[in-house]
Order: sequence, then C-alpha cells, then structure tokens
Amino acid sequence: MANIASYHQALKDNSTTVRKTVDEFLTRISQNQHLNAFLAVYADEAKAAANAIDQKLLNGEAGRLAGVVIGIKDNICYADHGVQGSSKILDGFESLYSATAVERLLAEDAVIIGRLNCDEFAMGSSNENSAFGNVLNPLDNERVPGGSSGGSAVAVAANLCHVSLGSETGGSVRQPASFCGIVGVKPTYGRVSRHGLLAFASSFDQIGPFAKNVEDAALVLEVISGSDDFDSTASSKPVPNYTPKSVAKKRFAYFKDCLENEALDPSIKQQFLTVVEKMKTDGHQVDAVDFPMLDHLIPTYYVLTTAEASSNLSRYDGMRYGYRSASATDLESTYKLSRSEGFGSEVKRRIMLGTFVLSAGYYDAYYGKAQRVRRLLKDTTDGLFINYDMILSPTTPDVAFKFGENTEDPIKMYLEDIYTVLANLIGIPAISIPMGKKDGLPFGMQVMANQFQEADMFTYSKYIMDDCCQ
Ligand code: GLN
Repeated sequence: MANIASYHQALKDNSTTVRKTVDEFLTRISQNQHLNAFLAVYADEAKAAANAIDQKLLNGEAGRLAGVVIGIKDNICYADHGVQGSSKILDGFESLYSATAVERLLAEDAVIIGRLNCDEFAMGSSNENSAFGNVLNPLDNERVPGGSSGGSAVAVAANLCHVSLGSETGGSVRQPASFCGIVGVKPTYGRVSRHGLLAFASSFDQIGPFAKNVEDAALVLEVISGSDDFDSTASSKPVPNYTPKSVAKKRFAYFKDCLENEALDPSIKQQFLTVVEKMKTDGHQVDAVDFPMLDHLIPTYYVLTTAEASSNLSRYDGMRYGYRSASATDLESTYKLSRSEGFGSEVKRRIMLGTFVLSAGYYDAYYGKAQRVRRLLKDTTDGLFINYDMILSPTTPDVAFKFGENTEDPIKMYLEDIYTVLANLIGIPAISIPMGKKDGLPFGMQVMANQFQEADMFTYSKYIMDDCCQ
C-alpha cells in the first residue's frame, strides 16, 4: 500500500479486501515477534471487524478510515483491553473506557490490531525502559528504535499495521519516527483530546500518529482531533482539512544554534543544509536565525515534566489499580512496597526529581523558574512567527544508537530530546519526516509551525519530503 487513498482504491477495485489485509498483517506480526513491538494482538477481533467493514464497504456505508489497520501505544485506553503503560505497576489492568482518539478511529471504521510496547509511562528515548523488554529497530536489530513510542514506530516501519498512535510529551513520536525512517506527528497542545491517555505530564502530553507518508498522518490526525467534553484542555477550534495542498512561497527559519551544536552528526548537518539549498532554489525564503536559548530547553523540560509526573503517578499506590506487593502488611507498606516493586528505575528517578523540584524551599528556584523560562520561550518563538511561517531543524542529533550506549548516563539520554522539546514546551505542532540516511540508518527533519497551523505543516512537510529530501 502506497497510502490510505491507494488502499481504498484497491478495496474499491476488489483487488483486496479488509479481511485479506488484516490476515496479511497478522502473518507479518507473527513473523516479526522478535522485534517485540506488540504487547497484545487482537487477532480474532480484528478479523471480525474486517469482515464487518468489508460488508459496510459493499453497502457503501464505510467511514473515512475504512479498513485502515492501526496499532495503539500501551498508554492509550481501549475499553475492555489491557493497558499498562508498559509498567509492572498496572499488571492485569483493563481499560474501563476508550480514549476519545480511539473512539474516533473506530467511528471511521479503522481496525485496532493490538497494543504496542513503549517506555514505561512514556519516559525514555530508546524503549529500554519497558517492563516488557526492548523493542528492536527493524533496520538494525542491535539498535534502539527510539522512544518512548518505540513499538508504535516499529509497527509502522516493519509493516505490521498501516498507521499507529503514539504519544508525545517531549519527542516520543518524532524521535522514534526519525530513527525508524517514517513520519511522526506531535499536534498542537489541545488539538487532540487527552481523555484516555495515561497521564505523564498533563500540560505537555498529546497523542500523535505515525505513518509512512505525510498524507496518511494528516488524515489520521484530522480524524482524532477536535473538542471533547471529557477534556477541557481540548480546543474547540474547528478542525480544518489537513490533506496536503499545493505549495506557495513561504518563509522558513532554522536555528543557527541547532546546526552549530557539537552533538549534531556532520552528515545530518550536511543533508539538512542540502535540503535548505533546494528549498531556496524553489524560491522559498530560508533564513538562519539566532536562538540563544537552546541550552535551556532540556533543563526546563525535565524540571516541569518530572514535577507533573510526580503528581500524576501518585495514583499508582497499590490500592486502586494493578499491582500490589505480596509482602505488604499495612497501609504504609502497601504504598511503599507496591511502588518500589512496581515502578522501574527511570520512573522512580523522575518521581524523586519531580518531588524535589516541587518541595517547599526549592519550589520557586526550580519549578517557578522553569515556568518563567517556559513563558520566555513562548514569547521568543511568538516573535519569530511574526516573520516566519515555519521553523526547520534536524529531528535528532544522530541516528539510532546501540542498546546500552546511553543507559549509564541519563543526561546523555536526555540530550536526545534537544531538538524536539521546544515544540512541547510551547505547545506548537511539529512533524518529523525522513530526511536522509547515514550508513543505511535513517534520520529525520523536523518542521514546526505556529499553534493550530497543522494544515500548512502537512502541506510543506510533504513538499520537503517528496521534492527536497532525495
Ligand atoms: N524522551 C523524552 C522523555 O523521556 C520524551 C518522552 C515523551 O515524549 N513521552 O521524557
């Protein structure tokens, strides 16, 4: 399948059926179990849904995602199906309701084929923090797929579903998309309802799609976007048509500081500049601008997200959901032992850091200050969007790294997010598209747009991907 439109054409021509397509995906999923992308496969349900959708297609009643096969990250609720945020602490837990995003996919006749491995509670950049083991990069099994939505990226890259849902707090869709050579989108904060998304850092979290091409990602985002009575932070702004349109001359900026960053791989820098030259030849304005705040992004992101996480994750106390320690004898030991045994080490590190930055006496020095930096970042970027339509950067400083390479040094791992977290800090939409390869390993380009400007972001990222990244 080249894209959803051509799949729908094939269904129309009777050259395939949804059932046949689902069976093909199920076969590939079982042939690729070593990748460890799926935590659960809903084979029987997917087949039954496929049969029903084939019937709907015959009757001319099928929705916009008719027969599109979708995997969902293990932090997105699907009623009566397990959801664990890839954590032991939610052992055995089943969703009581479906996320609004999932409801909207189902309402358009998508087929949910299974749930996908990720870093525990979406904390990580390599998928090495899952209680269910590493997900392997399909392009080189010794390398990470990126994280935290590693399973979602791999499922699409390895052709185990058409598209998938991941979630973003600081790059968890774009970075694995970059490492796996596919497209990944982080929408404007508030574009997609967070109802039914396990909370990590509520003022950052958004659900976003992975796809092989921009138009499929755009269609899926269009379907899942929009206001929601269950999430007051979901915007009531109407959702425009996101199908990529024809291209006019636009103004792009990129940050000099990003390209001069010493962590950036020279071949990624080279390819980025080649793409920029091509865009200029096509008549677009592309300017290098100063962004002296680059070094403040990671600390600000990690202070604020750990603070929010320490509060959000307090609900996992051994009383209400999932895992309870077998050695607990009273209330206090239930809390302590269940949380000590149920959470992995990265989650514990973040809970402790978040509790510290919120503690009396330190609150203003860390949390309060980070909030002020967040405002400054927003104001600075707002200023840039007066003169520019979009901002470009590499998605990641390097290609996928080997397992274990960054695990000893959390700071090194956190620096993976250097180019992605700005969009999360200030709530703007961003996409990663495949930009090139180094020694056979892909890397992405990031296109950021102003709030709610997804339509332009899709139009221009499709143009850059198809016309400039060769
Ligand atoms: N890598 C980032 C982190 O560990 C991003 C996480 C995310 O976007 N969910 O926080």
